[in-house]
Amino acid sequence: MAAAASQSVKIARRGLMLVISSPSGAGKSTIARTLMDKDKQIGLSVSVTTRQRRQSEIEGVHYQFVSQREFERLRDSDSLLEWAQVHGNYYGTPREAVETAMGEGRDMLFDIDWQGAQQLQEKMAADVVSIFILPPTMAELQSRLHRRAEDTEEVIQTRLNNSRAEIAHWREYDYVIVNDDLNSAFDAVQSIVKAERLRRDRRHGLFDFVEGLIA
Ligand code: 5GP
Repeated sequence: MAAAASQSVKIARRGLMLVISSPSGAGKSTIARTLMDKDKQIGLSVSVTTRQRRQSEIEGVHYQFVSQREFERLRDSDSLLEWAQVHGNYYGTPREAVETAMGEGRDMLFDIDWQGAQQLQEKMAADVVSIFILPPTMAELQSRLHRRAEDTEEVIQTRLNNSRAEIAHWREYDYVIVNDDLNSAFDAVQSIVKAERLRRDRRHGLFDFVEGLIA
């Protein structure tokens, strides 16, 4: 079982399902990657997608890239915990890795859109902590998408057009962070994780600890 990192007394707790959503280009993936680098207690849920692999992406690390047919097979055999169509491609969260991690009390990070966030919230409300990342301005969002320079102009335009619809779901999240400075946005995410790990209702080990304390 995982335990609160900040304390020397180890108290067993359930794992967190940390869901991070944002429109493309708001910095969600950078924040997610930094969190994974700095916090070894969190595992990343690697999604399956029918989208074309970008040059910088590695199969099995960023995504499992699958055909439409394979995606449908996974979806129809109930192997996906949630799935959605985003910007014209299909994306889904493989069920097994999540259920194993949760069973072992490990934390998991999900870089998924609002449709996926809603589905996880419906199925596993007690374990989900959701964060929405906003860009400081729409102009900054646009320039970040261009700076990334990994997508065609057409793909960038689709993503920009979809960003307002994505942002419209901000109220469905537990926390909202405006990413005008990457370091502060990252600090905010770390604070959320730290506090959520300490929540009483997540720490089933507290019962025995307190019983022992006052015995
Ligand atoms: P990208 O193509 O830029 O990697 O991702 C496009 C969008 O799909 C992002 O908002 C990303 O968070 C979302 N996404 C990635 N994987 C999943 C998934 O498994 N499920 C859902 N619902 N959305 C996903």
